[in-house]
Order: sequence, then C-alpha cells, then structure tokens
Amino acid sequence: MTASVSYERTREHLEVLGLQAALDALDGVLQAGQKQERLPVEILDDLLSRERQQRFERRVATNLQLSGIAHPRRLEDFDFSAQIDVSKPQIDELATLRFLHQGENILFLGPPGVGKSHLAIGLAMTAIAQGHRVYFITLNDLVERSRAARQRDRLHVVSSTLIRTDLLLLDEVGYLPLESIDATFLFQVVSRRYEAGKSIILTSNKSYGSWHDIFPDAVLATALLDRLLHLSTTVNIRGESYRMRHRRQAGIPTLNTKGE
Ligand code: ADP
Ligand code: MG
Repeated sequence: MTASVSYERTREHLEVLGLQAALDALDGVLQAGQKQERLPVEILDDLLSRERQQRFERRVATNLQLSGIAHPRRLEDFDFSAQIDVSKPQIDELATLRFLHQGENILFLGPPGVGKSHLAIGLAMTAIAQGHRVYFITLNDLVERSRAARQRDRLHVVSSTLIRTDLLLLDEVGYLPLESIDATFLFQVVSRRYEAGKSIILTSNKSYGSWHDIFPDAVLATALLDRLLHLSTTVNIRGESYRMRHRRQAGIPTLNTKGE
C-alpha cells in the first residue's frame, strides 16, 4: 500500500470512528512527529491524547451546563482575608476533592452574605472541572420541583437526578420551614445518597440546634442530621456579610440589615 493510500485511509478511519479532534490534529501531529523523529508509538500517543483531551473538555462544558449553577463562583476569587472564620488551608484541602471520593458531606453554616454559597459553588466547580457531575439546587426549588413532579406522577425523575449525580449542592436550607411531605422527600434523597456513599454540599443559615424548627417532625430531623453529619466537615462562618462590609467601608449607610 502506498503512503498516500494509508494517509487517506487513516483520515477515513478517524472520520468513521468519530475521532474528530484526532482527525483535525492529524496533519500537525504527523509533521511534528517527522520533524522531531518521534517513535510511531509517540505519534499515536500524541494523536489519541488530543482526542481524549477534547472529549474531556466537552464533558466538562456539558456538566457545567447541566449543573444548574446560574451564578458561577471560583475559589480563586474568594477573599480569605475578608473572612477570618474560613481557613484557606481547610478550603484547599476540600478542593482536593478527597471528600467526594470518600463520600463525605460539607456543610457551610452562617448568616446571609458571608460567602457560604460562593465557597460551595467554588468547590462544586472544582469538581466539575475534574469531570464530575454536579447538581445545584436551592431547597426551595427542590420543594417546588418535587411538588410539580409529584402532580404529574414524575417524582422518580426528579429523585433519580438528585440521587445519581456525583455531587449534590443543596443551597439555602432553613430559610423556610418544610411541610411534612417535602421533609420526607428531602430525607429520602439524603438517605439514598448516604447509602450510596455520595457527597452533599449544603449551605444553611441555621445552626443544627435550630433544624428542629425547619422540620415538622423531630425524629425525622434527627435522622436526617445523623446521615448528613456521619461523615462530614462543617464550616461555621460567623463574620459580617461581605457586601455589607464593602458598603460600610465605602461609606454607604447599611441600615438594611436583612435585605442583603
Ligand atoms: P451566602 O451564601 O453566605 O449568603 P454568598 O456566597 O452568596 O453568601 O455571598 C454574597 C456575595 O458576596 C457573593 O457575590 C459572593 O461572591 C460575595 N462574597 C462573599 N464573601 C466573599 C469573600 N470572602 N470574597 C469574595 N467574595 C465574597
Ligand atoms: Mg447563599
């Protein structure tokens, strides 16, 4: 077989097999290989690495889109000097994602505006960048979505999304008390993830002692906390709201202490 036939056939193989990135890179990789007198196996390695890299990047982009994260936040943008209750080494350790592989949960607790969601989303985006599937939802949205789905007999679709994702980010737990049917659904999601060894990152403005106010049933609240806390890290943030502090530093009156 002549070289030109081999070249044409290689292009065709890549196209038929759907290896588009490798096809696009073929000429450059072959040229570089010839110029640098690379071994055939090095050329193959280079070509297939490009295909894998592109597929990985596409997966990350898709996972970010499907994650439900409307307002992306990066850990790099978190100002640790503005929040003394949060230790950078601790967040760096969490950002290794060991917690995810161990099925541990992370709970960010504290008043509004102190950076709970920022840190939670920053960690979630770190997980997405490593190829994990993440699902972000506020507890209110979870309640609304599960109610709507229940009416259409589609609750299993919602629960399988919440249970199957590699990492569930449950934001704003505790702003509104839950009705019994919603608390039970939340308990089922948390239990199923716990049994499957899958992590949850949760943010709440309530300390654990006050969780009984959110749940209509004290036994359920205790059982839910047991599962959440069994393997977990809690980051308690007490400090001042980040935006308030900036407003105050800019000399803008901060009379509204609730509105954020
Ligand atoms: P919470 O979830 O605790 O109510 P957020 O994480 O939503 O607070 O923070 C409110 C806003 O302030 C967000 O835009 C967030 O990015 C920003 N923010 C809070 N703390 C910090 C910080 N230490 N460094 C940088 N930005 C911060
Ligand atoms: Mg928040």
